[in-house]
Amino acid sequence: MIVRLGYILSILCTIVQCEHHETPKTHIAIIGAGIGGIATAYWLKYYLNDSVAITIYESDQVGGRLRTLNIDEVEYEAGGTIIHDKNLYMKRLVDELGLKQLNHQSSFSYLITDDGSQTLFSTLSRYIPSIFHVIWRYGLDAFRFKFWLDKKLSNFLRIYDYQDNGRTFETVEEFLQMLDQDFYAATRYSFRKYLFEKGFHKRFIDEIAQMATLVNYDQSVDAINAFPGLVSLMASGSTLWHVEGGNYLVPKKMLENLLKQSDVQFVKGYVKSVAETHRIDVDDQGGNVRLSYQPSTSDLVNSVDYDHIVIAFPLHRDNIADFVVQATDSFYQYDYRMQSTHANFLHGKLDCQKYNLTDDECQRLNAIFYTKSSLPYRCVAQQQPVNLNEEQNKKPDKSVYKIFSPEELNLLHYEQIFDKENFKLIQDIPWLAYPKYEHPQKLPPIQINKNIFYLNAMEWSSSCMEIEVISARNIALLVAKKLGVELKHSDKHVEF
Ligand SMILES: Cc1cc2nc3c(=O)[nH]c(=O)nc-3n(C[C@H](O)[C@H](O)[C@H](O)COP(=O)(O)OP(=O)(O)OC[C@H]3O[C@@H](n4cnc5c(N)ncnc54)[C@H](O)[C@@H]3O)c2cc1C
Repeated sequence: MIVRLGYILSILCTIVQCEHHETPKTHIAIIGAGIGGIATAYWLKYYLNDSVAITIYESDQVGGRLRTLNIDEVEYEAGGTIIHDKNLYMKRLVDELGLKQLNHQSSFSYLITDDGSQTLFSTLSRYIPSIFHVIWRYGLDAFRFKFWLDKKLSNFLRIYDYQDNGRTFETVEEFLQMLDQDFYAATRYSFRKYLFEKGFHKRFIDEIAQMATLVNYDQSVDAINAFPGLVSLMASGSTLWHVEGGNYLVPKKMLENLLKQSDVQFVKGYVKSVAETHRIDVDDQGGNVRLSYQPSTSDLVNSVDYDHIVIAFPLHRDNIADFVVQATDSFYQYDYRMQSTHANFLHGKLDCQKYNLTDDECQRLNAIFYTKSSLPYRCVAQQQPVNLNEEQNKKPDKSVYKIFSPEELNLLHYEQIFDKENFKLIQDIPWLAYPKYEHPQKLPPIQINKNIFYLNAMEWSSSCMEIEVISARNIALLVAKKLGVELKHSDKHVEF
């Protein structure tokens, strides 16, 4: 009897054990806790739920190129600043996280100058509406540009429907081509040539297009290819916003929420290499790719195996030697480079005399854009604190300005912009800000090899927060498809 009972119990135990035997989880490492890396974790959890275990590695600050600078107890955006009104993923994340959108100075008064010696165009006049100035200076180009750009933008917006319905792309070329045949073609030519062939006139290209590409990517219409050129132009004339408290709050809060879920880990450390391993036994917990990292608290290098790895930071010629990725030769073969951009913060008073501005105009002047690309600076703009709305921001006690420049500036440069007696440098923040674009553009692979994905390949189409989130969703979809996960159809609403 006792023997029988033992036998029955052992069978029961086996059944119970079988029932509780968990399906093996897919282990994924994400390297980089910027908006792109954190958004990848978010979408992976969305599609794969409890069947995925995620480890996020970060060597520096969560948020990466999104961060603020504190000046006299007030925070200002120091990296990625403005978000386009049609950037639907950023909007959606801000909503879900309970954050708030603040409009970016709509009553912006600015002037465009070539080298700082004379005004080419300005929105400062109280008596003549800007629209008349626009028509007078740029003729029909101003209207054609708006109409044509709206059409391009509506083609770009197709990405949301595609992704809601589970569509993926395996290369950056495919991404561009599925939205608009012209987008990939645009990466082949300089922005100047592209606009010229579309019938835009020299003045419009030299002033409006040049201002847009210099401000957004610190690169001229002759150097940059036409796709990031188009993205730069889309920002002009649209409603722009930022996140109350700082754009970095999006990745920061997303990470906080992710860490509340099971199987999400955050590791502070520098990843030194990733390499494919040869898996002998499929049931082995080993994984397919090996990641080696140095924790921030130790000199020792640890190695961990994963099923998939997502590289969520840009690989370029200045960091490729430190980060060993066993991959195709494409990174060594092609010379991917980043644009160095300094964000110089100053207190000061703009020198309005050289533009013959009245006191009233000088008071209202928020920004100056320089279109001569050989100048050492691109623009100077009064800064809006990240936690004040436009109303509260109308009369800042002490003006804070930000100058973008490709190199470090000296005293002489500041004196060319500000009233000599009236400026003080607060901080110069150097960035490797965005890819250095070229034409024809070499586009890096999204899938470096079977199990290694490269999120920032998409940045070589154009660099902005929204593109990183689009890329993150694409990688999550590629992984989900690889694992045979049935995708939700038209999953428009995403929640934590
Ligand atoms: C000055 C400036 C202005 C900008 N303006 C705008 C704007 O107005 N609007 C807009 O949409 N975008 C703007 N951008 C671009 C935008 O900020 C970026 O496209 C976006 O933030 C990039 O996010 P990411 O997560 O892909 O990369 P990153 O933010 O660069 O994050 C990558 C992370 O990886 C980490 N990392 C790197 N190597 C390793 C390693 N080996 N091991 C572990 N961790 C590692 C880094 O520390 C970093 O935190 C701007 C950028 C700059 C610099």
